[in-house]
Amino acid sequence: MNLQDKVIIITGASSGIGEAIARELSAAGAKLVITARRQERLQTLADSLPGESALLCAPIEDSSTPGRLLELALERFGRVDAVINNAGIFVAGSVDTMDLDAMSQMVRVNFDAVVRSSYVFGREFKRQGSGAIINVSSIAAYLSSSSVGVYSGLKHALEIFTSNLRVELAKSGVRVGSIAPGTTETEIFDHMRTEGAPVRADQTPPLEAADIAHAVRFMLEQPDRANIAKILLVSAKESV
Ligand code: NDP
Repeated sequence: MNLQDKVIIITGASSGIGEAIARELSAAGAKLVITARRQERLQTLADSLPGESALLCAPIEDSSTPGRLLELALERFGRVDAVINNAGIFVAGSVDTMDLDAMSQMVRVNFDAVVRSSYVFGREFKRQGSGAIINVSSIAAYLSSSSVGVYSGLKHALEIFTSNLRVELAKSGVRVGSIAPGTTETEIFDHMRTEGAPVRADQTPPLEAADIAHAVRFMLEQPDRANIAKILLVSAKESV
């Protein structure tokens, strides 16, 4: 796909990986719909992008958000070509310490919202006979360690869901794939450090958000006949 004038939705665009993806795809000529909850951060990003963008400030777990994103893209740009489901949070805790309400919010944001968005855009892409869905999972999908079981489990489920959706939509001209980053220097990563997650010294220096953004662009820029179904992108020092 040549990204010039393509219309791409990016969730979780107010910081970290989502923000880097927005910068990368805008520089490649794409028109963007960016979303997150922090309006000011989104506006600052939109003002600094080289290309056109529209923004929606909304909680991603609100069931109406994916539909609103689709409507905004159609109203502003007349079509939509890809969605990057990137928004996510990290909540860790042991059996004794887990904040169960925060954990449930993570289930809504990291899985339910991604699945809803995948279906809303999957329907639109199937109707138009083209489109790409990229879901951001994590290396955690493949690891087992104490205190991060729910985060890992949700990312694992997301990998399996994404793989099944790829198969379901393969004959419709819709490409579906996932990218699983390793430790990446973002606000979530800072949070992981303070939550005592197993972020180890030998995994540093971690990736930078721009590294993930380059890979997402690479996934999108494949010719129509090629679909990168899965990328596991880790720090060169990652040892798990
Ligand atoms: P950041 O915390 O920098 O970014 C998270 C983004 O998600 C923000 O834009 C935030 O915006 C948005 N977000 C969070 N909750 C909501 C919500 N309820 N509604 C709408 N938007 C929300 O972290 P990263 O960039 O690191 O994370 C991006 C993705 O990458 C996540 O899915 C994460 O799991 C994944 N990942 C990250 C890794 C890392 O080491 N950093 C490693 C592997 C995967 P706002 O707060 O403004 O709503």
